[in-house]
Amino acid sequence: MQHLNMQNQFKLIINGQSCLGEAGELEIINPATAAVAAQCAQASIAQVNQAIEAAKQAFKSWQHSSHEERKSILNKIADGIEQHAETLAELIVLEQGKPLALAQMEVQGAIGWTRYTASLDMPVDIIEDSEQKRIERHYQPLGVVASITPWNWPLMIAVWHIMPALRAGNVVINKPSEFTPLATLKLCEIIQQEVPVGVISILLGKGDVGEALSTHPDIAKVVFTGSTKTGQHIMSGAVKTLKHLTLELGGNDAGIVLPDADLDQIAKRIFNVAFLNAGQTCAALKRLYVHESQYDALAQKLADIANAQNVGDGMATETTFGPVQNQLQYQKVKALISDALAQGAKALSGDQTVPEQGYFIAPTILTGLDESCRVVQEEQFGPVLPILKYRDIDDAIARANASEFGLGGSIWSSDLKAAQFYASQLQCGTVWVNTHAEIVPHAPFGGWKMSGVGAEFGLEGLLENTVGQTVHINKI
Ligand code: NDP
Repeated sequence: MQHLNMQNQFKLIINGQSCLGEAGELEIINPATAAVAAQCAQASIAQVNQAIEAAKQAFKSWQHSSHEERKSILNKIADGIEQHAETLAELIVLEQGKPLALAQMEVQGAIGWTRYTASLDMPVDIIEDSEQKRIERHYQPLGVVASITPWNWPLMIAVWHIMPALRAGNVVINKPSEFTPLATLKLCEIIQQEVPVGVISILLGKGDVGEALSTHPDIAKVVFTGSTKTGQHIMSGAVKTLKHLTLELGGNDAGIVLPDADLDQIAKRIFNVAFLNAGQTCAALKRLYVHESQYDALAQKLADIANAQNVGDGMATETTFGPVQNQLQYQKVKALISDALAQGAKALSGDQTVPEQGYFIAPTILTGLDESCRVVQEEQFGPVLPILKYRDIDDAIARANASEFGLGGSIWSSDLKAAQFYASQLQCGTVWVNTHAEIVPHAPFGGWKMSGVGAEFGLEGLLENTVGQTVHINKI
């Protein structure tokens, strides 16, 4: 690992200054060792208010910066992320646990998303242009945006929140998860080098800091990724000042394998999208429905892949599968597996040796479960995949849709027409055919039902950071 100067890093950024936290320090735990990896400054509520005041001042001129200027700044930020790619990837492994190669992909994703956002043009829609009249629709920045990010993809999700907000002319205050603030702090340091004072701030702290930030009357919009429960809480706190909201929440995505699917072709792909980031991905495949004719064969193929994983510290070159990010999540996933086994489920994988320290759970394939099992009904958000049998496709679709969530879903088949037909019957914001969890900068992504409000990415995602303004011009 590159030498990290722990003394000079991991501070807050308020009003362009790197500063200590008035509420003491937070301990950041390395999930691969369960030992303290770093200390971080923790913000007081007074510092939350200072950051908001500085952001408000900064917005006065930043909102008038030109589109070309903001595009150029975003490209410079992407250059900065590229220059610090190695450090960022190592910080992600240290705080989040994922294997280094996956952390490097996260950094590359952050660069790609930043450059894509820089390339977007802000539209002006012409609604009418007659002899007498011209009507245009413009998109104006909102003001101070609060970005609250989770612990699974800390750098990437911060980029998803911050870059479109800045590109649209807003100023941003980010609050990373108390578990994973390190890479986000480095990101904000990089951004700070390119933008005027107060345009970017970062506050560390627990839920109370997020609460103070997201309920403050001077916050115009909250963009949040995390649990549905916290998302609901943020929504209720936004009511008083009618804040704009983008909420990317939980999911319990189903994948359905049609009887004609080529198992050799899809097994590895299904494993990768179900166990992406040790299953800690909002849009991972979390329930797999397989036709009875292929059930045992596919379950065994997935178990073989699971049993071949090297579970360990993300910095070790041989590691293919990292730990669960935090102790609470580790306990939650363990409890879901135990509950399923107690109800008669069979684990076809998951008993390879894992390191004693740290929050390790080997990828676990469960078969023979009942639909009512907690691991089927709840979002596991961890390295366990329940495989469920179906006979009739309509029944499988109904079971897939019988969830309060609606983030994503997939159909796996060699018959693309049939697959697309069934995919359109899934009640979720994104449907995939022969893949899952694929997220790209130019395709909008958002939840249905309890999985969220609004969308990120593409032009639609950019416009969520604006308010529409209609301009009527009488030509006489
Ligand atoms: P939370 O929703 O509690 O946390 C996400 C973010 O919200 C964190 O930055 C957190 O801060 C912050 N936060 C917590 N309370 C408040 C509040 N009252 N007001 C404003 N912000 C707040 O997720 P958890 O970390 O507790 O994870 C629980 C579950 O959420 C997981 O099991 C998983 O199901 C789901 N999840 C979904 C994710 C997704 O990508 N959709 C990502 C992560 C989790 P702090 O961490 O400092 O408390």
